[in-house]
Amino acid sequence: MASILESDIKFLQGVGPRRAEILDKELGIKCFKDMLMFFPFRYIDRSKIYSVTEIDSSMSYIQLRGRISSISVVGDKPRAKRLVAKFWDSTGTLDLVFFQRIKWIKDWLKPNTEYIVFGKPSVFNNSFNMVHPEVEPATIENPGYMGNMMGIYPSTEKLKNAGFSNKQITRLVGSLLKLCEPALSETIPVDIVQKKRLLSHREAINNIHFPKNNQLLAQAQFRLKFEELFYLQLSLLKQKGIREKKIPGIIMSKVGDHFNNCYRKLPFQLTDAQKRVIKEIRSDLVGGRQMNRLLQGDVGSGKTMVAVLSALLAADNGYQSCIMAPTEVLAGQHYKGSLKLLLGIGVKTALLTGSTKKKERESIANGLLDGSIDILFGTHALIEDTVQFSNLGLAVIDEQHRFGVEQRSRLWNKGKTMPHILVMTATPIPRTLAMTLYGDLDVSVIDQLPPGRKPIKTMHATDTQRDRIYSFMKEQINKGRQVFIVYPLIKESEKMDYKNLQDGYMNIIEEFKAPEYITAVVHGKQKNEDKAHDMELFASGKAHILVATSVIEVGVDVPNASVMIIESAERFGLSQLHQLRGRVGRGAEESWCILMTGYKLSKESRQRIELMCSTNDGFELAEADLRMRGPGDMEGTQQSGLPVDLHISNLAKDGQILEEARRTAQAILEEDPLLENEKHRLLRYNLGKLKREQKDYSLIS
Ligand code: ADP
Ligand code: MG
Repeated sequence: MASILESDIKFLQGVGPRRAEILDKELGIKCFKDMLMFFPFRYIDRSKIYSVTEIDSSMSYIQLRGRISSISVVGDKPRAKRLVAKFWDSTGTLDLVFFQRIKWIKDWLKPNTEYIVFGKPSVFNNSFNMVHPEVEPATIENPGYMGNMMGIYPSTEKLKNAGFSNKQITRLVGSLLKLCEPALSETIPVDIVQKKRLLSHREAINNIHFPKNNQLLAQAQFRLKFEELFYLQLSLLKQKGIREKKIPGIIMSKVGDHFNNCYRKLPFQLTDAQKRVIKEIRSDLVGGRQMNRLLQGDVGSGKTMVAVLSALLAADNGYQSCIMAPTEVLAGQHYKGSLKLLLGIGVKTALLTGSTKKKERESIANGLLDGSIDILFGTHALIEDTVQFSNLGLAVIDEQHRFGVEQRSRLWNKGKTMPHILVMTATPIPRTLAMTLYGDLDVSVIDQLPPGRKPIKTMHATDTQRDRIYSFMKEQINKGRQVFIVYPLIKESEKMDYKNLQDGYMNIIEEFKAPEYITAVVHGKQKNEDKAHDMELFASGKAHILVATSVIEVGVDVPNASVMIIESAERFGLSQLHQLRGRVGRGAEESWCILMTGYKLSKESRQRIELMCSTNDGFELAEADLRMRGPGDMEGTQQSGLPVDLHISNLAKDGQILEEARRTAQAILEEDPLLENEKHRLLRYNLGKLKREQKDYSLIS
């Protein structure tokens, strides 16, 4: 039997078919339940009546009680014409101002009647007034003392035009609650509700719309956030359990000559963090479970090394590997970088990108099929159907957030059995977000940089200081260092961005004249050959300066570069700035990152820039980014999106609730992995419902 909660919203009295359409279009509200799950985003305290003398400029909405002494219409120009009502209580007076419905209000307001006035005080001509307040007669039924908090619902222009004022929405929700209350049954097993001292689902829904007081509001919010995050984690963790059971892991138990010889010949010691991660990967490879691991490590922490050593473990056990990168530049660098490491090790590698010639392509295809190629490097050319392996055992994806879910999942099906999977990212994802986005992955972290790196000094400079920046660059170049100059590239304003880059490039070659100074330029509109040529010029040290768009963000390794200049730095997000900054400071030399901005900056931009100057810690920045911009805008999540729509939880703020919810879900699944137990019927049922409502992101990795 269908529950009343699923009734079409058009059947709610006061809605009807036409307005139902608007509710659906603007808010996605289709049924009664959707409307009950549409929560206020803030609350106004209507439990207190203020007196006029108490008003100060910091106040938001308040409630006053008093009388009107005079009413006048002032101003004759249409837009300045307004009705001013002098309002007074026993402590002072204040103007109530109306620009609309003047005639109606003038007739309606009566001197010497007591009113409750509700609005936001503002300052005009050095005294307080209230523009368009709500005014209602104070009666015995309406003493202006509602004794509770009033919810303010999110709204849009269209909703308002269709008559959905906050008052109207509140009224609709109120009558809906009356209708549906009996149907609001508990959604979490009672023992959890008791153990966690949660409000019941019904109480929580009631109080989220009509909080009796602040404390109940807080409890209602906690309960609903917990519920939401609990089911999310339950779903992710259950999925993980099932996958681990279903997909057999290729067992790679041998540590052989390939790995050992390379390890012995490394030009440096692995950091403890790298060693730890390799151990974690190794224990996955021998465990009989398919590895599905996310490796997070700050820029320059040496993730590539870990990938290559893992590929050697696969080779030792007779399996092929592939390592996929988002750009040709990066794939080429991985390939060339490992050629040196793998010299004399006895593994065969190849590089496959969009610009690989047809003949080469064919020979690679053969080498993959007959098993003679052990490690294949490349771009998304790797996932094309024509690329088939003889026995793929490990797939590594670098900078995984650059690839779409679908692209990534195509790699999974390249072998006879599902290969082990390692995805790597230098965009540190805060723990709470990782737990949601990648809830069914295991996570490793390289939290240590190779020794000998000096912290990068970050400075802020404005356009007016450009001359000083130029002399600083010259100083550095004369010391034998190289300089990056990066321009933003944003889809919406690509044209402008390219123009800025071109102008900037012209200025640089004017100021830094050849042949004394050589400047390379790299951007997305170049032919591949030109890009490769200029990149090589800079990488080999022949060019002193590289002017580029943010394409170089991903992973380019030029240890001799010690200065990173970021133009229009205010247009980059924190994580992106941090990525770019990580391009320098790779050698042992002292290095600098200079953030160029215009003189005028918004408060938020200034905060971001200051934060960049104050810390080198990628995780700290990522947490701050999440707080400042919210998870929707987090880099690394735009493409995949959040796996679910969160109604009420905020990942930036509700980390603790999330962890608690996850622990609770974990404990349940440990006891009953498939939720088969009779006492988990409710969970099974709700999870099923959740699944039907949401997209399947189980292949998010
Ligand atoms: P990322 O994690 O950003 O991908 P890379 O793997 O590109 O970092 O490594 C950055 C640089 O550090 C490379 O030049 C690499 O050879 C070097 N490197 C990696 N591991 C170590 C180590 N343990 N000691 C010294 N240098 C290292
Ligand atoms: Mg890298």
